[in-house]
Amino acid sequence: MAVTMNQDLRRERASASFNPELLTHILDGSPENTRRRREIENLILNDPDFKHEDLNFLTRSQRYEVAVRKSATLVKKIREFGISDPDEIMWFKNFVHRGPSPLDLHLGMFLPTLLHQATAEQQERFFMPAWNLEVIGTYAQTEMGHGTHLRGLETTATYDPETQEFILNSPTVTSIKWWPGGLGKTSNHAIVLAQLYTQGKCYGLHAFIVPLREIGTHKPLPGITVGDIGPKFGYDEMDNGYLKMDHFRIPRENMLMKYAQVKPDGTYVKPVSNKLTYGTMVFIRSFLVGEAALVEIAAKNLQTEVSHRKSKEVAWNLTSVDLVRASEAHCHYVTVKLFSEQLLKIQDKPIQAVLRNLCLLYALYGISQKAGDFLQENILTDTQVTQVHQRIKELLTVIRPDAVTLVDAFDFQDVSLGSVLGRYDGNVYENLFEWAKTSPLNKAEVHESFYKHLKPLQSKL
Ligand SMILES: Cc1cc2nc3c(=O)[nH]c(=O)nc-3n(C[C@H](O)[C@H](O)[C@H](O)COP(=O)(O)OP(=O)(O)OC[C@H]3O[C@@H](n4cnc5c(N)ncnc54)[C@H](O)[C@@H]3O)c2cc1C
Repeated sequence: MAVTMNQDLRRERASASFNPELLTHILDGSPENTRRRREIENLILNDPDFKHEDLNFLTRSQRYEVAVRKSATLVKKIREFGISDPDEIMWFKNFVHRGPSPLDLHLGMFLPTLLHQATAEQQERFFMPAWNLEVIGTYAQTEMGHGTHLRGLETTATYDPETQEFILNSPTVTSIKWWPGGLGKTSNHAIVLAQLYTQGKCYGLHAFIVPLREIGTHKPLPGITVGDIGPKFGYDEMDNGYLKMDHFRIPRENMLMKYAQVKPDGTYVKPVSNKLTYGTMVFIRSFLVGEAALVEIAAKNLQTEVSHRKSKEVAWNLTSVDLVRASEAHCHYVTVKLFSEQLLKIQDKPIQAVLRNLCLLYALYGISQKAGDFLQENILTDTQVTQVHQRIKELLTVIRPDAVTLVDAFDFQDVSLGSVLGRYDGNVYENLFEWAKTSPLNKAEVHESFYKHLKPLQSKL
């Protein structure tokens, strides 16, 4: 703790109604977890190999390079320290990278897809090299013209029985793979989603392991055009990429064939369920799905549209606004439900009290944001909505004196947060000034542009 802590913050902390250390233990799962998390955090923060530079002053290319260096060091250290527990690996990763990292898709999509959709032979060929990062992969589904509408994907994989190869092709500009993380510069392989053609017939989307860059030189293979899609809002460290394939051939054995198969003669063997192919992406998104009173409205409206002789697809589209409202309501409901259930497990009375107020605030705030829905469905009356607004104000007054200590309980170290203003000692003005002085523009008292451009101009006046 800094000796010169800001007086206001000192006062806030002194008057907290609970002990933040105990809440940290709850957030971590146990005091032992807190101890181990801090141990790992300090290991990283004190390790010169993980030098934490101020990312604000780096160009995008430098930020990407720093992220790749840290990822490589991370892998080396995890091996060196023999860390194998998934929670500990996650802590390690989160302390090293404050945001996304170029290997996220390799670890989060490429390896799991291999595990779930590759045959034993394919796992033998790819899993260990991928585990050892000789093969670095990504998951290339989205195309420039096609995101949500998966069936519209245009990339083709046409089977050639003569050579027993698939020919991967991007026939149009809109079919260029666009967005996949780590595709631009990091990956040497991708799992590519493409429309499968064999014996003259299209069998829909299937996944293929496609080598993109030569192992060793990392140069793109002939027929492969690959690169970074440029700056985005955020995700500077990530080389989200594009991929254009020009009649690029891969062996038949590179189609992920645990479920659907193409035999050497081109015969197609159906999977048990056709949803399995894009299962990994759907699995990631399925965290966001929904229930509640709004679900009923959505369901009723859907039925009404169908009864007006609309096709199921058109009816679904016409009801999509109701469906979005229903899923948002469901997410709010699930959060409140889980929060309330966890509250009952907390032994420490002062912490239980402050968290109960937070839970209530969250629940009531959600209701106040959607008050119209509650009124329309006669779930709440006018008077009750007014009471909700009133109660929110009361809760804010009760919670405010604990606000600083609640934030402290997250147990973020200043260097981990990397924020100029969000710091434990609260000395924001002093720190803002010190930080501004470190800007590369301030390296010299007089910037070189003065001598190059302004001085010649002045001498002519
Ligand atoms: C940071 C980032 C990382 C990504 N990483 C990957 C990756 O690793 N691999 C990969 O393959 N892709 C990746 N993507 C792409 C991502 O999967 C797509 O952005 C996503 O599928 C949405 O597609 P889209 O951007 O074309 O939006 P669109 O499909 O054009 O959708 C735009 C909006 O319209 C809505 N909408 C679309 N269709 C309907 C409908 N029928 N009814 C009602 N509303 C609809 C959507 O909900 C959305 O709000 C990434 C994207 C981002 C932003």
